[in-house]
Amino acid sequence: MLRADVLAMSAYHVPAADGFVKLDAMENPYPLPDALRDAFARRLAAVPLNRYPVPDYAALKAAIRDRFGVPAACGLILGNGSDELISLLSVATARPGAVVLSAWPSFVMYQVSAQLAGSRFVGVPLAPGFGLDRAAMLAAIEREAPALVYLSYPNNPTGACFDDGVIRDILAAAPGLVVIDEAYQPFAPRTWMPALERHPDLLVMRTVSKLGLAGLRLGFMAGAPDWIGQLDKVRPPYNVNVLTEAAALFALEHHAVFDAQAAAIRAERAVLADRLARLPGVEVFASDANFLLLRVPQAPAVWQALRDRRVLVKDVGRMHASLHDCLRITVGAPQENATLLAALDEILVQRPGGSPPEGPRPGSDGAHPTTP
Ligand SMILES: *Cc1c(COP(=O)(O)O)cnc(C)c1O
Repeated sequence: MLRADVLAMSAYHVPAADGFVKLDAMENPYPLPDALRDAFARRLAAVPLNRYPVPDYAALKAAIRDRFGVPAACGLILGNGSDELISLLSVATARPGAVVLSAWPSFVMYQVSAQLAGSRFVGVPLAPGFGLDRAAMLAAIEREAPALVYLSYPNNPTGACFDDGVIRDILAAAPGLVVIDEAYQPFAPRTWMPALERHPDLLVMRTVSKLGLAGLRLGFMAGAPDWIGQLDKVRPPYNVNVLTEAAALFALEHHAVFDAQAAAIRAERAVLADRLARLPGVEVFASDANFLLLRVPQAPAVWQALRDRRVLVKDVGRMHASLHDCLRITVGAPQENATLLAALDEILVQRPGGSPPEGPRPGSDGAHPTTP
């Protein structure tokens, strides 16, 4: 007796990655350094697994406030990944007829989660070049009166931070909550966190996933205490488990390690973007995140040819018309990026004429130009 819309959904597909250079999921390529592993193991071994988490998560919240500059006047809510926070927002706002709005294309969970909760999702197309379309956003906000507006900042999958002036206009126009999702903040030049004090209906969402702790599943969101207090009623009481809590506290004490990894990834991003842009026919879009969006002739075939060479990237071409022939590539460790570049060199340069080894996959229209 399942819902028809659930039966009609396709499952969130995560491809097998054993033996692959994995550049499809925006993971930090660097593991916890060996020098920290014993201390980490001792810390986890001391956690009382027989006890429920302390429900206010006071120690972890204090560490997060301190480390990530959450304004003192703000409330803070924790999630089992920011995916769970998105889910809580969906549940809390899903009155009959409610609308959730986002610039689009963006993080697919905004749409999936809103629709599962029974809200209508409205995606407002980005302007050419993947910036916010100011007029279209303001018109849609006026027309739809959304309960919730999401802005991914930097935007996944396009890579750059949106224009702050347009975001200010959106904040002024939106009748409900505006959530700025800063999942990629460790790689970005700007943040809205300090601006929370000036915008009572703004929430800033973060995660430790892209910082190198994707396996922990910990996200957090800051905003006016009234909003956070209401959302906290929807949160399952023990949603962050004791091992995640202990591990996150440990990681925050050793934040310099993760900050250095993020700095290395930002430096690698510049190198990789430069090399990719020199490949024939490849267009690289500006990125403030730990991934690069590129447009390449016959992207589905290039994706397959990379896969044949054991390099996994994300083909985002079918997500949205504006992403036609686009691939999203996570910035890896130098050796991984070198493997990617060597593979692309084989695919795009050493096979002049650009006919990749296999034709476009089913579903592709086959109308792409054959040569870069
Ligand atoms: C990866 C990602 C998330 C999910 O983060 P988790 O904390 O791992 O659930 C949220 N928002 C955006 C835009 C992302 O790309």
